[in-house]
Amino acid sequence: MSQKAYIFVGPPGSGKGTLSKLCVDTFGWLQLSTGNLCRKHIAEQTDIGKQIDFIIKSGKLIDDQLMTDMVDCWLEEVTTTNTTLILDGFPRTVEQVKRFVEMTNSKYPQLEVQVIRLLISDDVAIDRVVTRYVCSNRACQAVFSAKNDSGLGSKKEMVCDYCGSLLGKRTDDTEQVMHNRLQVYRKHESDMLACLQKAHIPVVEFTGEMPIEDVFNTFVDAVIR
Ligand code: AMP
Repeated sequence: MSQKAYIFVGPPGSGKGTLSKLCVDTFGWLQLSTGNLCRKHIAEQTDIGKQIDFIIKSGKLIDDQLMTDMVDCWLEEVTTTNTTLILDGFPRTVEQVKRFVEMTNSKYPQLEVQVIRLLISDDVAIDRVVTRYVCSNRACQAVFSAKNDSGLGSKKEMVCDYCGSLLGKRTDDTEQVMHNRLQVYRKHESDMLACLQKAHIPVVEFTGEMPIEDVFNTFVDAVIR
């Protein structure tokens, strides 16, 4: 039996994490955010965490093989279920696409993979990231915004609506680091998409520059129905 796997592609701030959370909460899907996984390693000061701490703070990408191995570990676990999967933030380079395709062909042939690409300008991405707050509870990680018109404000100031934990800033969500993150993302974007296309993985794309409910409804209409 086949198992659906969506790859959410888009620059930081495009709404991949928020869309993932809506899908997880609404449909009970399983999501891996490779950025959150990296931050978890750093917070827990694991060997991997110590190795990648500086790289994340500078907005660069961590090693392709290390990243692919982390994703492989997660896939080993979640492919024992038949639940739809979301990969948020992986693959991000041509090398990662190649390793992902090799890995799924050999180990997870049941996965029916589709790419969802969120389009957003650099200016909007920077604005969203510098005004966003994230729940400090690692099991929650809900995303909020300080912007009044975002629809993502928290009901109580600096407190998570979902679990009541305090909200905080990610260390790499500063304007300066964001410029690096966007530059790195854009550098890999077109080659990575070409590589996904070459691997015959279908890509559906739409703008992420709308309120998150509209992004979610567009995704549901375009992909699930
Ligand atoms: P994100 O939260 O997805 O913006 O990721 C935060 C940071 O985690 C990135 O700037 C990278 O340093 C690292 N990271 C996340 N996903 C990947 C990936 N697929 N490949 C390499 N580094 C990654």
